[in-house]
Amino acid sequence: MSEMPLPVLEPATFQQRLLAWYDHAGRHDLPWQRQRTPYRVWVSEIMLQQTQVATVIPYFERFMARFPTLEALAEAAQDEVLHLWTGLGYYARGRNLHKAARKVLQEHAGELPVESLEAMAELPGIGRSTAGAIIAQSSGRRAVILDGNVKRSLARLHAVEGWPGRPAVERRLWALAEHYTPETRVADYTQAVMDLGATLCRRGTPECVRCPFADVCVAHARGEERRFPESKPKKDLPTRTTLMLVLQNDAGHVLLEKRPASGLWGGLWGLPQFDGLVALRAWLDVHATGAALYPLWPSFSHTFSHFRLEITPQPARIDRLESVGEGRCWYDPGNPERLGLAAPIKSLLTSLAPFSLQAPAGP
Ligand code: SF4
Repeated sequence: MSEMPLPVLEPATFQQRLLAWYDHAGRHDLPWQRQRTPYRVWVSEIMLQQTQVATVIPYFERFMARFPTLEALAEAAQDEVLHLWTGLGYYARGRNLHKAARKVLQEHAGELPVESLEAMAELPGIGRSTAGAIIAQSSGRRAVILDGNVKRSLARLHAVEGWPGRPAVERRLWALAEHYTPETRVADYTQAVMDLGATLCRRGTPECVRCPFADVCVAHARGEERRFPESKPKKDLPTRTTLMLVLQNDAGHVLLEKRPASGLWGGLWGLPQFDGLVALRAWLDVHATGAALYPLWPSFSHTFSHFRLEITPQPARIDRLESVGEGRCWYDPGNPERLGLAAPIKSLLTSLAPFSLQAPAGP
């Protein structure tokens, strides 16, 4: 506890103010708040990592319609899970959710182990805060959370210096979160503390005038709300480049291949990718002899957390190909199959839907 900054309020006062605010201004009718089962809360918590509630709701509802139980998710093919994740981003979340469902089915008889924080945090894709959120919201047992929203509010309330990604800063914030978490009404408290950060103590413009802690918030008193929490020290993102082969057949279908299970866009379907034209031509010589190349399409970039990928599409066409080989398929952009696709690949393919490359004019 020695690392904890001086709390601005006693826990009971903090809880009472927060819950009173939540009762009249918090969110009470989110889809995962109805039938609060561990499974539904878990799926919602994973989708909500890095993603806002309004974006998550339709994905959550489609996911629940298709996988109403943990067993249904565990028994599904990964392709179908990733298909329902398409557009939500951070696909490792979808892969881990699927892996974790299978693990729960095998090792916990199909029931999420909400009686144990440690067992929950051992499941793929579930860290300490997510485990706490699932336990608190679905079982009502006391468990502490510290997601991005909570970190921001606590950092501002106490003017905690430093980037929360630094272990020492994170320890201080965990100590505060522990300090304030109640023994009762834990599910409501958990939703309330997340709502505070998501709806009032927002990243860009906090609404301090409506905040139940405006009179004790240190950052607000100093007029420095936006200085907290500190941002990650900036590094220039390196840029990588890649050529993507957009090979169409005479029906306008595009050749896709399944990416390796882990790594960038792991397990999704994508366009064959190459470091340069020499490698791309060598691949065509083996897999699609006789394909005609067209002028390159304009490049566009996609930003990941640790680098920027500059993508140049290389269009090509082949009239006939006996076999596309293992792990590849022809994809009809006008009548798409249910496959998991990375967002930039999906938009590239969508733009192709209305037309196909014409065969080059003869000599
Ligand atoms: S007073 Fe403002 S900065 Fe402080 S916790 Fe409330 S909303 Fe956030």
